[in-house]
Amino acid sequence: MASVELQKVGKSFGKVEAVRDVSLVIQDREFVVFVGPSGCGKSTLLRMIAGLEEISTGEVLIGGQPMSRVAAADRGIAMVFQSYALYPHMTVRENMGFALKMLGTPKAEVDRKVLEAVSILQLEDLLDRRPKELSGGQRQRVAIGRAIVRAPGVFLFDEPLSNLDAGLRAQMRVEIARLHKQLETTMIYVTHDQVEAMTLADRIVILNKGRIEQQGPPLELYEEPANQFVAGFLGQPRMNFISCVARRSAAGTELVLPNDETLLLTMRDEPALPLAAPVTLGIRPDSIGVVEEAAGNTVPARIVVVEQLGNSSLLYARINDNPDLVTIEQPGKSVLKADHTIHLRLDPGRAHLFDKNGDRIRA
Ligand code: ATP
Repeated sequence: MASVELQKVGKSFGKVEAVRDVSLVIQDREFVVFVGPSGCGKSTLLRMIAGLEEISTGEVLIGGQPMSRVAAADRGIAMVFQSYALYPHMTVRENMGFALKMLGTPKAEVDRKVLEAVSILQLEDLLDRRPKELSGGQRQRVAIGRAIVRAPGVFLFDEPLSNLDAGLRAQMRVEIARLHKQLETTMIYVTHDQVEAMTLADRIVILNKGRIEQQGPPLELYEEPANQFVAGFLGQPRMNFISCVARRSAAGTELVLPNDETLLLTMRDEPALPLAAPVTLGIRPDSIGVVEEAAGNTVPARIVVVEQLGNSSLLYARINDNPDLVTIEQPGKSVLKADHTIHLRLDPGRAHLFDKNGDRIRA
């Protein structure tokens, strides 16, 4: 078990700055997920912790010890990759025990540790199979088992579920969460899947262009995003963003939408905004209600597409000729059809405002 500390770490590949000035403290036993779009530097950051990538600036500490002169094999970490990287000619038992055998661990101890990991991962019936005789999910469990037998202080996962189909991903997600509870070990997990980040993490670190955009517990980031990038990244379907102009009225802050409709935004406290400030209204699809008749503070829109998902429906609607469609999520089946005119009731208490730089305007 160990903490991990990143002190102003940076990594450049020639002119590409993959990681810039990242500082972060990961507590012992914490489950931290690095998430962000492709190319944001999350795998590079993980590989820097693992010692697989030299760092250009800063320092990595594991268990309080600087790692700059410590080889990957001596850092007390174990890494699980997207490509399972199993030895094809070895059985499950041999694959899982291989690292310990190489370290000269007595056979009886290797066997005991392998059986322990096998029972945690419910692989008992597969011990004598080779990787080609396993499903993708089973192979990934073996790869995780190989990490478990080494009893590392820190587990590093690099997109471990990306090769699995949706059903298996969900199942493995639950298994990894259970594993974290059972092993009580520090885990750092890289993914571009925001559902994995939301469900697994004690703390999410959102990266963009090599820098940390925001970090915190999943629901805190979901409900209180610092900026438009974070707001748009977490949540499925994605938050709607509508360009508006904010202006003051006697009743509160009014937003003028692209079609000149106005919307009264009753925020907890009125934000300090300049007159006629260009802003972006951010509102999640489940915070928009639909009414059939125009009423106070509603906005007319025309439905373009209806997606019936069984347990919920997604309506994609256009406000006037605004190019961006607004997504509305409704529970259950929708009776609405394309070309219907509806009136959107935006829940002002759940709306966010972003300034022209994308930073959230806090009320
Ligand atoms: P993905 O989700 O696509 O795996 P990522 O967030 O993990 O992306 P990294 O693999 O860390 O991103 O890459 C960050 C940046 O560094 C990218 O611009 C990438 O092209 C660049 N990069 C990574 N490895 C190298 C390398 N060995 N040589 C040159 N550039 C690299």
